[in-house]
Amino acid sequence: MKKDIKLSRIHCAGCAENLEDKIREVDGVLSASVDFVSKVASVEVENKGAKEIIGSVEKAITKFDSSIKIVDTSEEEKEARREKVKKIVDLAFMCACVIFALVAYFLPQSMFWLKAVLFVVAYFLVAYDVLYVAAKNIFHGKVLDENFLMSVATIGALALQEWIEAIAVMFLYNIGEMLEEAAVSKSRKRIKSLLSIKAEFANLVENGEERQVELSTVKVGDIIRIKPGEKVPLDCEIIEGNSSFNTSAITGESKEFFGTVGSQILSGYINGEGVVLCKVVSSEKDSTASKIIELVESATKTKAKTEKFISKFAKWYTPIVVGIAVLLAVIPPIFGASFMVWLYRALTFLVVSCPCALVISVPLSYFAGLGAAARNGVLIKGTGFIEKLANVRKVIFDKTGTLTNGNFEVTKVFATDKSSEDEVLELIAYAESFSNHRIAKSIVKKYAKTINTAWVSGYTELAGMGVEAELFGEKCVVGNAELLKKHNIQFDEVDDGFTTIYLAKNGEYMGYCLIEDTLKEDSKEAIKLLKDLGIKNVCMFTGDNESVAKKVAGELGLDGYYASLLPDGKVQKLADIKQKNENIAFVGDGINDAPVLASVDVGISMGGVGSDIAIEASDVVLMTDQPRKVADAISVARKTHKIVIENISFIVIVKAVVLVLSALGLSGMWLAIFADVGLAMLAILNSLRAMLFKKKDGKVKDK
Ligand code: ADP
Ligand code: MG
Repeated sequence: MKKDIKLSRIHCAGCAENLEDKIREVDGVLSASVDFVSKVASVEVENKGAKEIIGSVEKAITKFDSSIKIVDTSEEEKEARREKVKKIVDLAFMCACVIFALVAYFLPQSMFWLKAVLFVVAYFLVAYDVLYVAAKNIFHGKVLDENFLMSVATIGALALQEWIEAIAVMFLYNIGEMLEEAAVSKSRKRIKSLLSIKAEFANLVENGEERQVELSTVKVGDIIRIKPGEKVPLDCEIIEGNSSFNTSAITGESKEFFGTVGSQILSGYINGEGVVLCKVVSSEKDSTASKIIELVESATKTKAKTEKFISKFAKWYTPIVVGIAVLLAVIPPIFGASFMVWLYRALTFLVVSCPCALVISVPLSYFAGLGAAARNGVLIKGTGFIEKLANVRKVIFDKTGTLTNGNFEVTKVFATDKSSEDEVLELIAYAESFSNHRIAKSIVKKYAKTINTAWVSGYTELAGMGVEAELFGEKCVVGNAELLKKHNIQFDEVDDGFTTIYLAKNGEYMGYCLIEDTLKEDSKEAIKLLKDLGIKNVCMFTGDNESVAKKVAGELGLDGYYASLLPDGKVQKLADIKQKNENIAFVGDGINDAPVLASVDVGISMGGVGSDIAIEASDVVLMTDQPRKVADAISVARKTHKIVIENISFIVIVKAVVLVLSALGLSGMWLAIFADVGLAMLAILNSLRAMLFKKKDGKVKDK
């Protein structure tokens, strides 16, 4: 059983990774993932005794860090109010702290004791919360907790009579926490609002009456009315009226979609001027808008390598810094240096010992990148794929349905003297009547007469080859040259750059039809854009024959092509051409290429026309069926990845500098805490840049 547990206030040192480990240790937990950005712990537990196990998980979470609370969705509002009150109290305490500290500061040295007492009171006014959490966490055996380290550092400073220092560190630490919390929750909201594609209500029409209802109450088959300017609430079909729709929230394209009676419209479209009456075709749960939101939200559950590395790094960083701090306090005094001086330096180390900035900014950047991609019509199913996409060196396209429209036109029907053209077309159409392949659909459409499927029996489809069936009681084979060769049928192979569908009846060759596909409008541009991104190798896999492949590859300027590949052959070929440590992306529509989509480093599928299997098997979904979007996907990924690397290097360098300065006695606690808080803020701001991705309007100029 799966369950999402909503958490409040994950503090940075309560790092997601450590918490994950703790949850996994609970008996009966199969997997766990903690998402810092959406503040959710997702766990999968054994079905038997699931309730008890989840109870233990919740206990483990609060035991791990007592500052984390589990939020009951029904109490979310109450919790938010409580947090607000607490914030106001904290602010009041901080003001009081400043007053106490100022009075103490101006008291003459002769009143030492009063001075000391006032300083200590001021200190407790800002530090009480941190001290409390630290104490509680120690009871739970969590020693290297940032609250604890801050407490040790500042109590140490008090003992050294560095009053102002101790108070200032706690003061700034609190302010930093508040700012961080505010910045993160603001950005969380901003990123989510990118995805505010879901309507709040639907206008349900029942018995001629219309009323506003919640989406969850609308059933498939219900009738709803969509008025001008409203969001389409659920995927539906227009049954009355017409209007133009802005599709950009779903597809990232600003092109208008004009819907009339019979058109399918997707949830998330925005209605233009007209009023339309629609029949609902999917419930709230299965609607496009919900699926997109769910995909993006759960995408943070599978983590990027860099993200995992940072969590590991964070795990080691604190103990190492604390270890060095201990050495600093102990070793120099052994050799006669001043204990006071080195103790102070050691305490400064503790102040910088939290990897907060890293732990917050890295997942935030990835999440921002996911949001930006989604807004551009590219759904990325996990932050790990952002990283892989950013490093893609080779892109392989499927041909039919991906680079071409897959709307085949029958351009020629040929019959041998054993048959007639009409019979050839008829038998081929009958053979294809059960197939979902684009070729099949186009031929059936061309045939245009009703097909009596009672005359079709023993139907088998051979992926990437064609079909075998008994038609009107006679054994027929319909498909490509490979298929006829497999049956040892004598025939003359046609080789003129068109897809050829051969027909054989009772082992005898009867004729063929030539079908022609059109290239997608932006296929050429897609390849040009990829080249502009520095991708050296863009090629094509197809199950179609050599001469068609050659023609298409030539027209599009591809670097290479591999023809006559069966679905397994595509997987095999992929393994053959893949070089070590090279990331390959495969773009397909899921018809006869789901196995490659699933096995390649980054499987990219066409979401609009692609089959559900393709969307399931792929890692990235393009909402519009435009190959051009592959370049967009890679660009967003690269930008996001770059920001992550920038943040990591910047933070690590500044931290290292502050540590060295502290060890040399050149930086006080002041500077240390300032650097720490400032760093986190800068990193957060930088992360948000990932959200700002704008797709290129890469029109290809014909030379
Ligand atoms: P691609 O790899 O270009 O997307 P497919 O693997 O879907 O192409 O199909 C490869 C070839 O197999 C087609 O060009 C066609 O010759 C043949 N084929 C596949 N399915 C059918 C079918 N249902 N009827 C006839 N031929 C088919
Ligand atoms: Mg295909």
